[in-house]
Amino acid sequence: MKIDKILNEIDEIGEAHASSSADTPLRDDAFEISDLEKIELIKQDVNNIMNTLGLDLNDDSLKGTPQRVAKMFVNEIFSGLDPKRKPKASTFDNKYKYGEMLVEKNITVYSTCEHHLLPIVGKAHVAYISKGSVVGLSKMNRIVDYFAKRPQVQERLTMQIVQELQHVLGTKDVACVIDAKHLCVNSRGIRDIESSTVTSEFGGAFKEKEVKREFLDYIKLDTSF
Ligand SMILES: [Zn+2]
Repeated sequence: MKIDKILNEIDEIGEAHASSSADTPLRDDAFEISDLEKIELIKQDVNNIMNTLGLDLNDDSLKGTPQRVAKMFVNEIFSGLDPKRKPKASTFDNKYKYGEMLVEKNITVYSTCEHHLLPIVGKAHVAYISKGSVVGLSKMNRIVDYFAKRPQVQERLTMQIVQELQHVLGTKDVACVIDAKHLCVNSRGIRDIESSTVTSEFGGAFKEKEVKREFLDYIKLDTSF
């Protein structure tokens, strides 16, 4: 999608990271405290939010919530902020000399909108054309999941997936389309339960009309086996 748009957005919130990639705006000291320390701090913060809302934290049903939410933030839904958790970039030689595009479609996306901290739920479709290296199929799912497990905007998620695969595979010929529902749109605000958001990033050969067309046609294939 539009790199300028993303960079402008990051600019606007005063976290300008001038680079060609759409980096997640993390502070330099993001990993100076341990995950356990983060869980303890977030637990206190969630406790404060619930307390402010007037909830009785002595109630059996509620008393474990701050701890549960804190663990979920650090170990699950925002675990992809930590570069140590990035999937290993192992590739294999393209021994079959398969020269056509490979499409991994309908990859489940569970992410979180960084503006409202509400879920983004959808599907990612990823494709590449090998320049000599290939990756295991599940690696593509893992890369999608790693970048999804952050506070995100869908445009940035789409670009991060493409840039990572370009880096791993050593080719620009990578594309990604994501179609997702944002619960901040579906369940609150405008409350449009039907709408979904489509973003795309086409690298290298995928910018060519016919290659792009072929990829988009594969996505449309019915795969209810
Ligand atoms: Zn939102």
